Amino acid sequence: MRSSDPNLSPAPEAPDWRTPAEICEYRTTPDYAETLAFLERIAAAYPRTVHLEGFGRTGEGRYLKVVVVSRDGEFDPASIHASGRVILLVQNAIHAGEMDGKDACLALLRDIVRKPEASRLLDRVVLVFIPVYNIDGHERRSPYHRINQRGPERAGWRANGTNLNLNRDYLKAEAPETRASLRLFHRWLPDFFVDNHVTDGADFQYDVTFAIDDTPDVFPATADWIRSAITPELVRRVDLAGHSAFPAPVFLKDDTDPARGLVFNENPPRFSTGQMILENRPGLLVELHMLKEYRRRVTGNYAILRALLELLNRDADRLVSLNQEADRAAATLGASGRAGSEFPLVVAGSGETTTMHFLGYAYERARSEVSGTIGIRYGTEPQTWTIPVETGVSIAASIVPPAGYIIPPPWTRVIDVLEAHGVSLRRTTAEWTGPVERYRCSGMVRPNLPFEGRYPILRGGNVEREMGHFGECHRVLETLTFPTGSVVAPLAQRLSKVIIHWLEPAAPDSALRWGFFDPIFEQKESGEAYVLESLGREEMHRSPELRAEFERRLSSDPSFAASPTRRLAFFYDRSPWGLANRVGEYPVGRLRSLDGIPLT
Ligand SMILES: [Zn+2]
Repeated sequence: MRSSDPNLSPAPEAPDWRTPAEICEYRTTPDYAETLAFLERIAAAYPRTVHLEGFGRTGEGRYLKVVVVSRDGEFDPASIHASGRVILLVQNAIHAGEMDGKDACLALLRDIVRKPEASRLLDRVVLVFIPVYNIDGHERRSPYHRINQRGPERAGWRANGTNLNLNRDYLKAEAPETRASLRLFHRWLPDFFVDNHVTDGADFQYDVTFAIDDTPDVFPATADWIRSAITPELVRRVDLAGHSAFPAPVFLKDDTDPARGLVFNENPPRFSTGQMILENRPGLLVELHMLKEYRRRVTGNYAILRALLELLNRDADRLVSLNQEADRAAATLGASGRAGSEFPLVVAGSGETTTMHFLGYAYERARSEVSGTIGIRYGTEPQTWTIPVETGVSIAASIVPPAGYIIPPPWTRVIDVLEAHGVSLRRTTAEWTGPVERYRCSGMVRPNLPFEGRYPILRGGNVEREMGHFGECHRVLETLTFPTGSVVAPLAQRLSKVIIHWLEPAAPDSALRWGFFDPIFEQKESGEAYVLESLGREEMHRSPELRAEFERRLSSDPSFAASPTRRLAFFYDRSPWGLANRVGEYPVGRLRSLDGIPLT
């Protein structure tokens, strides 16, 4: 719909406050300029309640905007926090083909400023929303971007201007949009975060699916509050509003056989709401069902946002104090080293299931002439499935946190990511030699295909293919020397979990897994074959044990025996020349204490 449309030229005595999507009966969704025009019109009419501000630019140079909705004209984050009000940050269109949340937020904003009963939603809450986050993707519009989605007519593209999926970029923070959003997040430090999406995957009756993490990596009192006071209430209120909610992302164990049930979905910090766990804040992932009509999806998204606002008003004091406690607890992680202070790095499904009734559709499974395998065909007849749902979770990997980490200064790109996250860092003012725990890593296998522009070794979770193979990293205590200007990241701060997840190699989105430390796995010096031939002869002569080990290897491993390169490497790798390559030595040290380190 363009601005020349007569519906957008209201008569003076009856201004038309319908949103662009409402005006065209949800056939289309407004582009960024139209979206901003609507928002600016509301801000101009209600300047004491609505305020727009910029927070950076996209890769293609578009201006990122956020809308602040506050009952009394107070738009300063520090004053709002001081007044004890809750700040809710809502993000839309990170996947720009999934723009339901944008149109829902426009309608919600209009109702808050126009309808007295809705204005009460601001009593204890300030609403801050990003109308369109992935703007470059949003402006790349086509009818052919979402094969599995029912409306609107044209939709944006999933990734940003460099084809990066911003919802895989949170912890590694490579995109300019991610950098801007981290700055925005820390400017406002919201009490609650929402990320609005549209599903991919199975067909079922629910139109609103959602998840708020309450797993063992969430601050326990916050997890209790979510489990008891928020998740069931959201379901109830969304259902009362005429929609149908299911409180988990729906991932079938087997895409062709719903009877096998649903599996737990891991949520590592490459995802927005996974990142919220590291920020000690609750994060709500909303997924509208892709095959519902656009009007139903937008109004469903509206219903859950409105229900959440009601609950945040009800529980404002509790949420503010939970967040303060969670921040304080995070700042004590590094004071651990005691028994029972294990920090969960990976939370995964335990395999334990609960049988549930799930509102699906009748379906047929049959061998398909297209794929040549068993395929599924969903019908339109509602059917209640009685299926196992993986409800058990367990801690699949954990560590005891150190007091902090020390990073040698040349690892600038690793340090830069911590800076982008607003982590508080210190520098050594002189060379320092002391005891650190460090990892020696081996057996890493990179995948053959790129993922998000890299070749990461990632846990698949349930949404992506397994990528590569994580070998092993074992820890040794050593006395090492770190040059002047080395970076120390103390865990005594609210962002301790960001530091741990970035620097512990086995964490699901660590710098090592994403490839930021790949040079440590390269052998930079080696010997010519004729040089190594004489090294091997001398070594066998010098050490009968080494000779025996070599011969055992020859007889037990035919491929080794057949490879001249590997036979020569056997001697080089074990020699002082080979060891000088320090292949697999992780350069980051774990500090048991910061005492005695000369620091800024
Ligand atoms: Zn999405």
